[in-house]
Amino acid sequence: DRTTCWLLGDQLNTDLDVLDAADDVLLIEAHGFADRKPYHAHKLTLVFSAMRHFRDDLRERGHDVTYVRAASFGEGLDEFFAERATGADDGDDAEPRLRLMRPASHGAGERLRELVADRGGTLELVDNELFWTTPADWSEWSGEGETVGDDEPLLGDDGAAERTYRQEHWYRHVRRETGVLMDDGEPVGGEWNYDDLNQETPPDDWEPPARPTFEPDELTRETHAWVRERFDTWGNDSLDGFAWPVTRGEAREALDRFVRDGLPAFGRYQDAMAGGEPFLSHSLLSPAINLGLLDPREPVRAVERAYEKRGIEPGAYDPTERGGSDAGATSLDDFGSDEAEGDGDAAEGDDGDAAEGDDGDAAEGDEPAPVPLNAVEGFIRQVIGWREFMRHVYREAMPELAEANQLDQDRELPPAYWDGETDMRCLSEAVGHVREFGYAHHIERLMVLSNFALVYGADPAELNEWFHLGFVDAYHWVTTPNVVAMGSFGTDVLSSKPYASSGNYVNKMSDHCADCRYAVSRTTGEGACPFNALYWDFLKENEETLRGTGRMGLMYSHVDGKDDAEWESIRERADRVRELARSGEL
Ligand code: FAD
Repeated sequence: DRTTCWLLGDQLNTDLDVLDAADDVLLIEAHGFADRKPYHAHKLTLVFSAMRHFRDDLRERGHDVTYVRAASFGEGLDEFFAERATGADDGDDAEPRLRLMRPASHGAGERLRELVADRGGTLELVDNELFWTTPADWSEWSGEGETVGDDEPLLGDDGAAERTYRQEHWYRHVRRETGVLMDDGEPVGGEWNYDDLNQETPPDDWEPPARPTFEPDELTRETHAWVRERFDTWGNDSLDGFAWPVTRGEAREALDRFVRDGLPAFGRYQDAMAGGEPFLSHSLLSPAINLGLLDPREPVRAVERAYEKRGIEPGAYDPTERGGSDAGATSLDDFGSDEAEGDGDAAEGDDGDAAEGDDGDAAEGDEPAPVPLNAVEGFIRQVIGWREFMRHVYREAMPELAEANQLDQDRELPPAYWDGETDMRCLSEAVGHVREFGYAHHIERLMVLSNFALVYGADPAELNEWFHLGFVDAYHWVTTPNVVAMGSFGTDVLSSKPYASSGNYVNKMSDHCADCRYAVSRTTGEGACPFNALYWDFLKENEETLRGTGRMGLMYSHVDGKDDAEWESIRERADRVRELARSGEL
């Protein structure tokens, strides 16, 4: 019997088993969703262009592809079924059979199964190969503790979780199960986590590696022109700055570039922010991974391989001393790694020698820089730790997660999130990056964009929608746990305290505050950094929930240390900041 493999717009991978096993392929470009909200023009261009390129790629590889453009999946299926009925011979296709990898979005599999059944076909749902771990892997891991009945919601009405999950435990479990970065059952280098080495900021004269750019081809330009004409979009609607990979070949190249140029400094500057530098040493791979152009195993394995070839001890590489991506040649042997130490002659002092020796050697100029273990481990944790973890937490905690709001925050997002107009340099930079590229890196997302919304008191569901429509890598399954749980503390399902901070964090991790109109050193009065008063006011307002978490003791000792007069000025300043933010004058 003939089976059609239906692939969704975030399942664009040519190497899937589900594809090999099918007779033909269905792709439905359903665009009605983009009529309902003003998505970033680059996001729509990316998704639709990648689908169209994927269609062509599949056809070139000999697949029989039906590509339908429609307002909704229902209409797309109508067209597909009508085509099948006309083309049917010998009654062969009376009842089309489709197979689909389980969609990442909550409830979508069941909805699509019904749509197919309503039209007289059958839809079989199979595991989604584009995640490394399966729902069964997760249950096996999480089932070790107390269990919650399947019918019981994980989150109560107040957002408080019946059961909580911690990423670090999951991450270690996945490392053990997959053997990634493991050495005889122990983590390579002896530690699971080298985050303490990943909190530096680059000096002013450090230049991040050039962003890999993929020039829009004819098909992308055509798609972009259609997007502009057809939809009301938000953000940069020209193609300037659109440089995302739209094919698997480009995605592979983006990965190679990251491993060669970005990885060496990835760890060290992972949490840093710098004015005018949207990308730093981040991989910029999430758009390609989330579309399916890259299987998440690929970046992890590539980074592991880079460690085998170019690996050095944690922290043993200083990107500023070696002059960036074309610094000296390296191998484990050159840099006194555990293995090299066994040789007896690779003393630590070799660091300097190797660098000097290579400087003058033109032939070695293109050799990539070494990759310290803290960068390698840090990157791998993001993918097999955080990404997989978020996907499963989303599965477990939906549908309640989308509406979770344990702090009862309900303020409308300030206009600065839409127009980027604010004198707060950190916020205007971060929103500016989103408007321009549909991208901001993790610390801008967490410690500026969602931290500000959190201490301001914004509604987590509205913030989630903002992230969802503004970012090129945003899908409901990934924004919802990141924005509602991690960023807004709408629930404690994945963290026991909120990611809330005053201006101090931004000051420590960026160069923004020095050039900002607001004084980070002051909490109250005109001109004081808005983050400061909002932060203390937030702690005071949410004392009942937060003091009890047990992890806020230090913060509440500071709260307790402030007298009434101080609180009065804090409250006054916080009110004033909220008023300015609301009226677009912050
Ligand atoms: P890198 O810093 O190079 O990290 C490598 C990879 O790790 C990423 O490509 C991504 O695949 C993965 N990763 C790291 N952290 C996470 C995480 N918390 N959740 C899922 N994957 C992770 N990620 C998205 O893919 N889409 C989103 O819409 C999204 N929204 C976010 C919203 C908020 C409020 C926060 C705090 C985080 C969000 N993230 C999201 C996670 C993370 O910030 C992005 O994956 C990352 O910034 C993407 O850029 P990059 O590829 O350069 O990442």
